[in-house]
Amino acid sequence: MIIETNTPKETFDFGKSLGERAKAGTVYTLIGDLGVGKTVFTQGLAKGLEIQEPISSPTFTIVQVYEEGRLPLYHFDVYRIGDVEEMEEIGYEDYFYGAGVSLIEWANLIEEILPEKYTEIKIEKDLEKGFDYRKITVTSIGE
Ligand code: ADP
Ligand code: MG
Repeated sequence: MIIETNTPKETFDFGKSLGERAKAGTVYTLIGDLGVGKTVFTQGLAKGLEIQEPISSPTFTIVQVYEEGRLPLYHFDVYRIGDVEEMEEIGYEDYFYGAGVSLIEWANLIEEILPEKYTEIKIEKDLEKGFDYRKITVTSIGE
């Protein structure tokens, strides 16, 4: 599935629609360059899960947990991870296979421990289509 957006709000609203439909145990991986809109998308997803707390990037921790919504959100940023062992130390399986929704930024760095099934979200710019244009590609992996 491909979605094209031309404003941050459209990207937010797309994230929100996925959040509204997300089920326990859903894992999303989020791919895209710096400044492409990953945080905007994540904020929308959180809104769709009825999380009111502001979403920031989990800069100093691998995972940020938001418990107050319809389902918990486990927001991972594994950019600074040295080794997948660090994921084992934080007990990632309790998140990936748990009661909430996992969203993993830079998931390519931990490819070997990704679950069999997950949904990949890729956000890309295309400057020929305008500064605010974004192409969002959603791919079900392992279906
Ligand atoms: P990332 O988390 O991927 O580094 P951010 O979500 O923090 O990126 O920032 C995306 C920036 O791009 C924001 O300043 C946002 O306003 C801007 N932007 C412009 N057009 C869009 C769009 N169509 N979708 C998402 N963000 C957009
Ligand atoms: Mg970000």
